[in-house]
Amino acid sequence: MQEKGREWKVAVVGAGPAGVYASDILIKRLKEKAPLLGLPAAVHIDVFEKNPAPYGLVRYGVAPDHPAIKSISQALDRVLEAKEISLYCNVCYGKDMALGDLLPRYDALIFATGAGEDGSWRLGQEKIEGVLGAGQIAGWYNSLPGFAPPLLNSRAAAVIGGGNTALDVARILLQDPYTLSKTDMPYEVWSRLASSRIEEVHIFIRRGVGGNKFSAQQIRQLKGCGRLILDEFSKDSLKSFEPDEKAAKEVKNELESPGAEGSPKRAYMHFSSFVSALFAPEGRLEALEISRNEGGEPKGAFCLKTRLCISAVGWRSQKLPDLPFDGSKGIIPNEGGRIGRKVYVAGWAKRGSKGLIGATKADASQTVDLILSDWSQSGQGPIDASPIEEFLKERGIPFTNKEGWFLLEGYEARLGKPDNKKSVKVGSACEMKRISGLA
Ligand SMILES: Cc1cc2nc3c(=O)[nH]c(=O)nc-3n(C[C@H](O)[C@H](O)[C@H](O)COP(=O)(O)OP(=O)(O)OC[C@H]3O[C@@H](n4cnc5c(N)ncnc54)[C@H](O)[C@@H]3O)c2cc1C
Repeated sequence: MQEKGREWKVAVVGAGPAGVYASDILIKRLKEKAPLLGLPAAVHIDVFEKNPAPYGLVRYGVAPDHPAIKSISQALDRVLEAKEISLYCNVCYGKDMALGDLLPRYDALIFATGAGEDGSWRLGQEKIEGVLGAGQIAGWYNSLPGFAPPLLNSRAAAVIGGGNTALDVARILLQDPYTLSKTDMPYEVWSRLASSRIEEVHIFIRRGVGGNKFSAQQIRQLKGCGRLILDEFSKDSLKSFEPDEKAAKEVKNELESPGAEGSPKRAYMHFSSFVSALFAPEGRLEALEISRNEGGEPKGAFCLKTRLCISAVGWRSQKLPDLPFDGSKGIIPNEGGRIGRKVYVAGWAKRGSKGLIGATKADASQTVDLILSDWSQSGQGPIDASPIEEFLKERGIPFTNKEGWFLLEGYEARLGKPDNKKSVKVGSACEMKRISGLA
C-alpha cells in the first residue's frame, strides 16, 4: 500500500563532500520540484560517517598548506546546520550496520564512501619499512587517527606518480617549517617535518613530459619550496615538447625554469621513468633502482639511496558488504548513480578517484535527479519510522552527532587562537570523541 504525504527518509553513508553536497541538493531540489512532481517536499537525512569527524578528504587528504581549499569545510558546515540533516559519526557501514538494517528504514540510501584507499603499486605489495602509500603520509600530516609518522631520516625521498597528490606530498616534504607552522597541523606533526633530514625529493613519473596530469600552479608551488631540477633525459624531452593547449604551455614554461634560487632544497623530476627494484635488506628500504622507458624499451638508469619511497598512484574505493564492486575500476558499479532499487552512489565511489571537490557537486546533482525521478514513479512505500538513535544505542554503537562535531570544531579553533591560526587539529580518536561529547 502506498502512503502519501509523509516526510521522505534518506540515509547517506559517508560525510565527505559528495555525501554533504548530495544532502544539500536533495533538500533544495525537493523544495523546488516536489510540487511539480506531486511529491512530498519534506525530507530528513541521516548522514553516517565512520570517522570521528566529517568531510573525508577535505579534512584528511587536501594538503594543510592549501588553506583556501581546506576552508571548504566551512561551506560544508553551513549545509550540516540544516534542520533536515542529522549526523552520526563513528558509525561504520559494514561494521556497525548492514544493508538489511538500512533498507527498511529509508526511502533511499546514498553511498558516498569515496575512494580513500591507496591505489596498488606493483612493488609496494610487500611490507617494507620506508615504503608507503600517499594515503598513509597524507593521513599522517592531516592528523587522521591511527596513522603513524614516516621516517624522515634520509637526505633523499622518492615519490612515485605524476598527479596532484604526488606533487602535494613532495611539496609538504620540502615545505619550509615557517609556512607549515601557519597550518592546522598539531605540534607533533609539525615538529617532525621541521626536523626532517630530507633535502631532496625525486619524483618518478612513468609518462613523458607531454602526458603529465598536474597543473602549472602545482609546479609553481613546488618551486616555492626548492629548486626544480629536471634530469638530462627529461630536459631533452621538454625541448621537443610543443604543446598547443594553453594549460600545457603554462606547465612547460614552469618546468623550464628552476625557481627557488639559493634554496638548499631540491625537487627532481624524472619523466618516463619508474622504480624497477627496491633494495631492502632486513625489510628496511635502503635504495631504489630506477629504469627509464626509452623508445618503448625499459632500461636501467640509476640507483637512488633513500629510506623513504611514497607511491602516489591513485586511489580506490573499498568493497562494501552487500554491494557490488568493480575491482578493476575500484568503484561501486552504477547507472548514472543508481546501484539498485532504493540504493544510490555519489562522488569518488561512483566515478573513481578523478576530479576535484567541485566536481562532486555536479555528480551528486545527477544522483539526486535520479532519486527524484525514481520516487515520482514509485511513490512512497512503508518504512520503519522508529528513531535511528534507538537502533544505534541498542547495538551499543558509541556515535557522536552534529552538535558534537561543532564542539570539536570550536575546540580546534580555540587551540589555534594563541598562534593566530584558524585552528589546530586534534588527531587522537579518543580525544575527538571525548570533546564531541562521548564519555
Ligand atoms: C591527497 C589528496 C589531495 C587532494 N587535494 C585536493 C585539492 O587540493 N583540491 C580539490 O578540489 N580536491 C582535492 N582532492 C580531491 C577531493 O578530496 C575529492 O574530489 C573529494 O574528497 C571526493 O569526495 P567524496 O565525498 O567522494 O570522498 P571522500 O572525501 O573520500 O569522502 C568519503 C567519506 O566516506 C566515509 N566513509 C568511507 N567508508 C565508510 C563506511 N563504510 N561507513 C561510513 N563512512 C564511510 C569516509 O570516512 C569519508 O569521510 C584531493 C584528494 C586527495 C586524495
